[in-house]
Amino acid sequence: MPLSKQLFSLLLFCLLLGCASSPLNRRQVMIFSDADMAQRGQQQYEQMRQEVPLSTDSRDIDYVRCVANYVINALDANQRGSYLWEVTVFDNEQANAFALPGGKIGVYNGLLGVAVNQHQLAAVIAHEVGHVLANHSNERASQSTLRNIGVRVAQIAGVDDSTLEVIDYGTQLGLFLPFNRIQETEADSIGVVLMANAGFDPDQTIYLWENMRDSAGPRPPEIISTHPSPDSRIRELRELMTAANALQEAANRRGINPDCQP
Ligand SMILES: [Zn+2]
Repeated sequence: MPLSKQLFSLLLFCLLLGCASSPLNRRQVMIFSDADMAQRGQQQYEQMRQEVPLSTDSRDIDYVRCVANYVINALDANQRGSYLWEVTVFDNEQANAFALPGGKIGVYNGLLGVAVNQHQLAAVIAHEVGHVLANHSNERASQSTLRNIGVRVAQIAGVDDSTLEVIDYGTQLGLFLPFNRIQETEADSIGVVLMANAGFDPDQTIYLWENMRDSAGPRPPEIISTHPSPDSRIRELRELMTAANALQEAANRRGINPDCQP
């Protein structure tokens, strides 16, 4: 049957080409090329720049750029790739930020009320860049594509709809939720190292997540609803601090002393 042959080839292709490792040596299945992902990132960034109002506050813009540039400059040549890294400040009350494949960073000015100094802002930006360095978007897009192929194969094999629903729901809970937590922990670890190499104070990451937790009133900051609970994250971050503090001291000794004024 031509269709199942096609699917089989695609699955084989995924298995052969999709094996990669994250910066922390976790096996990852990725079926899209870096260039594909960078192009998607670029498109999404342009779309956001058209749809979400941009900040016109030059102080905010200069401040966010100053912090982001330190973080970007701390990337090695391999991490930076051939991409044009850039940052946009959006005029939006949400405490949120993102980084897209291809080096496109966005910061909502609502974040500046929660990340209250340059170190805390650097912590958020470095965390988001950590997702990019670990190819998390590629991994998620690949998983959802493979899941759709799996469901299609099951349909062709004649599996009935109610069983399919159970399989699909189970895959989401079993695969996607813990997977999200794995990615978050990974981005935290990469982010703390990156911000420390950029000369920022990693201890401020702890205060940042405490601020996030304490500002979570009736409407928790957006970043919390898509991220694990601040308490479990703070516990994990504390374990990274000794090593991170040493990296910051080394960066400061090399003359990297960020002084970005809000
Ligand atoms: Zn994250």
